[in-house]
Amino acid sequence: MKKQYIIPIFVPHLGCPNDCTFCNQKKISGELRNITENDVRDTIEFYLDNFKEKDAYKEVAFYGGSFTGIDPELQERLLKTVYDYIKEKKINGIRVSTRPDYIDKKTLKRLKKYKVKTIELGVQSTNNYILARCKRGHTYEDVVKASKLIKKYRFTLGHQMMIGLPESTENDDIKTAKDLIKLKPKIVRIYPVLVIKGTELENEYNKGEYEPLTINQAVERCKEICYLFGKKKIKVIRIGLQSTEQISSPNKETSEVVAGPYHETFRQLVESSIYYDTIIEKIKTINTKVKEIEIIVNPQDVNNVVGYKRENINKLKENYDVDVIIKQDIKRPVGKIDIVVSKMYKDFLDDKEKV
Ligand code: SF4
Repeated sequence: MKKQYIIPIFVPHLGCPNDCTFCNQKKISGELRNITENDVRDTIEFYLDNFKEKDAYKEVAFYGGSFTGIDPELQERLLKTVYDYIKEKKINGIRVSTRPDYIDKKTLKRLKKYKVKTIELGVQSTNNYILARCKRGHTYEDVVKASKLIKKYRFTLGHQMMIGLPESTENDDIKTAKDLIKLKPKIVRIYPVLVIKGTELENEYNKGEYEPLTINQAVERCKEICYLFGKKKIKVIRIGLQSTEQISSPNKETSEVVAGPYHETFRQLVESSIYYDTIIEKIKTINTKVKEIEIIVNPQDVNNVVGYKRENINKLKENYDVDVIIKQDIKRPVGKIDIVVSKMYKDFLDDKEKV
């Protein structure tokens, strides 16, 4: 499979008329200037120069705001700049992220003209009460309408959802995932809510009106949701906000995060927890007590199987008295592990007797 590279281009939230309670766009929009064609060109050139595999699949991604909400004339200019690279076969495609209520036929025709391939919708929740509670300014019906239209125009559909929004229970978050599955996205992103400085949510948090999820709650909820998407072969391409200077531990001076389930390797926590469950399931299918297992993994999966700070290995030892041997196999597909029981407790006792 060809390697895939993303060239991220940050579109400031300029002009976003919305006021989502968890977003600090008002604060940052004052500090950011509008993006120009030159910015786009410079970013693309920089990335193209630095990519190692020149024949990889390369996609330009307009992230950060609601792309189709910015001035249509500016959209055209930015898209055309990337399109010139597509015509020269230096770039393979474009992806944009936007809001469900900023999608209509005219917009989709514009995106199609410039070879946009993927549209990611910021859904956040499919519960209209929760959407209104967060002042999202759109409804679940907008999500359904936009998703269907995007598929009709043959774009790749992506959804972004949040967990732990104000008044959103575990059932509500699971229901959002189930509703999204019905709309058949190809890819999804899951973001646990973090309380960011300067937001309405921060006020709610300070007044005790909002309680963020703990890391454990967020991991468990994400895990359930990943299982649901996984069963339907929907790819979860991100779990948790990307760590930056601003999105970092609330204890750091530069951090804009006030509270919430921030963890520098949040995705790893979720994936490790999924692997832990898989291993336990395997152990429980065997009638005799297991003493040692071998786990055969692709080198890329080693960290997730071992867990953050070896958590999985330690828990297996503490809770089940099982030793783990990790064997790396480059030929094993990423994400697929094989678990072999290499020693039963009976063998272990026999060995001891021989000594
Ligand atoms: S989350 Fe998106 S739509 Fe909501 S205020 Fe921020 S930029 Fe606007």
